[in-house]
Amino acid sequence: MEGRRVIGLAARDESGHLSPYSFTLRKTGPEDVVLKVLYCGVDHTDLHQMRSEIFPINYPLVPGHEVVGEVVELGSEAKKFKLGDKVGVGCMISSCGKCMACESNSEQYCSERILTYGGTNKDGTPTQGGFSSAMVVHQKFVVKIPEKLAPEQAAPLLCAGVTAYSPLKQFYNPDKAIKAEILGLGGVGHLGVLIAKAMGHHVTVISSSENKRVEALEQLGADAFLVSSNAAEMEGAANSLDYILDTVPALHPLGPYISLLKVAGKLIFVGVATKPLCFNTEHLLLGTKSLTGSFIGSMEETQEILDFWSEKALTSMIEVVKADYINKAFEKMERNEVRYRFVLDVAGSNLE
Ligand code: NAP
Ligand code: ZN
Repeated sequence: MEGRRVIGLAARDESGHLSPYSFTLRKTGPEDVVLKVLYCGVDHTDLHQMRSEIFPINYPLVPGHEVVGEVVELGSEAKKFKLGDKVGVGCMISSCGKCMACESNSEQYCSERILTYGGTNKDGTPTQGGFSSAMVVHQKFVVKIPEKLAPEQAAPLLCAGVTAYSPLKQFYNPDKAIKAEILGLGGVGHLGVLIAKAMGHHVTVISSSENKRVEALEQLGADAFLVSSNAAEMEGAANSLDYILDTVPALHPLGPYISLLKVAGKLIFVGVATKPLCFNTEHLLLGTKSLTGSFIGSMEETQEILDFWSEKALTSMIEVVKADYINKAFEKMERNEVRYRFVLDVAGSNLE
């Protein structure tokens, strides 16, 4: 049997403009799950990829890697789920299964991992993402959405949420007072604040303007808010932090932020700066500080953040939009006007 015919929203060139696109899913294999897509989060990485800013893309490209759906078909050996289950798919849909990364449950670092979109399926067809009426994915790369979690709330956790959760987990120690900083209050950053607070950390937000101060302190529950251009505020926080989660998707100076770390503090990059960043070595060596990075999280951690979120009864700030608004949503993201994550109502947009 041939794969299903579906309708997605695709970029055709580096302008990144999305328009309806009809394509065929790959054939359903024995361990595959077919999901009807309900919601899909809108991530800044989608924008980078639609414009070929990270690596060259073969167009048409259907983005979307924060996918929540309902199981509508199962391969003969797909026993992990049942029809009607609410499930999620994140940034990857395959890995080799036998390298060191795969064997240590870190398949996001497998050199043969296949990304949800912008990659190539084993049958040679391009992978296409969740801005589409349906998807077919191997069950290993599908997670269960907890019963208590609304599907639109679950969507941003599948990339942005696990991206913040995975590096923060190492600091999750209820017996230790941890001082954290989230740099850049966008999709990943605002989930980072909520997760860090739920882990018991003292959380400072550093933002590029005053615009988000009240929301950060009153709605997200941050303990402090600094504006990066305010030298006096920044100096007041010097040598105080255990870690900084840097979510900024652009060129920015590092010195002022490294100075905020205490001895042995860590600056963790998750934002994709599309140009090289600079720093002076003494910023690190005078304090044995480190710069590190983190890429999404493993499948195990993706399930963990969904369960953590549900257990702690957390709520993110999202704006649910329909397909006719999607290009405007990316424009607003680029102008830094999102509060704080767009989620596309795929099923409610009647793409088919
Ligand atoms: P977003 O919603 O656009 O948020 C980014 C935030 O960074 C903005 O809200 C803004 O916060 C700040 N910012 C934006 N432009 C800036 C500039 N020119 N200078 C300083 N600050 C700026 O993006 P997102 O979806 O959270 O994604 C953030 C980054 O993480 C992107 O590069 C994305 O590709 C990357 N990402 C990485 C992973 C991973 O696995 N490592 C996963 C998901 C996303 P303020 O208004 O507070 O300044
Ligand atoms: Zn591997």
